[in-house]
Amino acid sequence: MFIIFLGPPAVGKGTQASRLVAHLSAHHLSTGDMLRQVRREPSELGERLAELMDAGKLVSDEVVLDVVKSRMDVIGLDANYLFDGFPRTIAQAEALDAILSASDLAVNHVIELVVPDQVLVDRVKKRAALESRADDTPETVAKRVDIYREQTEPLVAFYGSRGIVSKVDGVGTVDEVFDRLISVLETGS
Ligand code: ADP
Repeated sequence: MFIIFLGPPAVGKGTQASRLVAHLSAHHLSTGDMLRQVRREPSELGERLAELMDAGKLVSDEVVLDVVKSRMDVIGLDANYLFDGFPRTIAQAEALDAILSASDLAVNHVIELVVPDQVLVDRVKKRAALESRADDTPETVAKRVDIYREQTEPLVAFYGSRGIVSKVDGVGTVDEVFDRLISVLETGS
């Protein structure tokens, strides 16, 4: 099963994704985590990624797809996947379709976690105070939200025409949101 988890920065995706993969016995493919690992390596690519990520910009589709494909090669397609932070552009979504359809497979479910913008801003302020992610300054988060709206939100329509998108309200306690997610995945509502 291939599930895509969509949502703007600070919507709470990371927290919920960790719980979901445990519940679903799925592999968690977080491109943010995978790219952070690459950028830690002392290489030209690592430096380039650091620059882009710290500015809140997207990494190129080519690099992202390389990282995702090599991970999928290792895991194999006969597994449950939760994609978190991927695809982020229509080009990435088309590339994922191509990978899956070559094996007669397809994305099964897309979940969009939604919260009002003001809640996002408040959460980012809190997160910036707790963690020290270089891309969590108010300016870069605003940039990431803009990029999300421009480049990633169109995926809702892209997959929506297939009838596989569910919107889930991300406001509430971690448990409340998790229960909503499970209910959508298990019953489709
Ligand atoms: P967020 O909290 O914004 O959802 P992530 O941890 O998913 O952050 O990603 C952090 C950064 O990594 C992004 O701002 C971007 O620079 C890069 N990134 C992650 N996934 C992708 C992707 N699929 N395509 C392009 N860039 C990506």
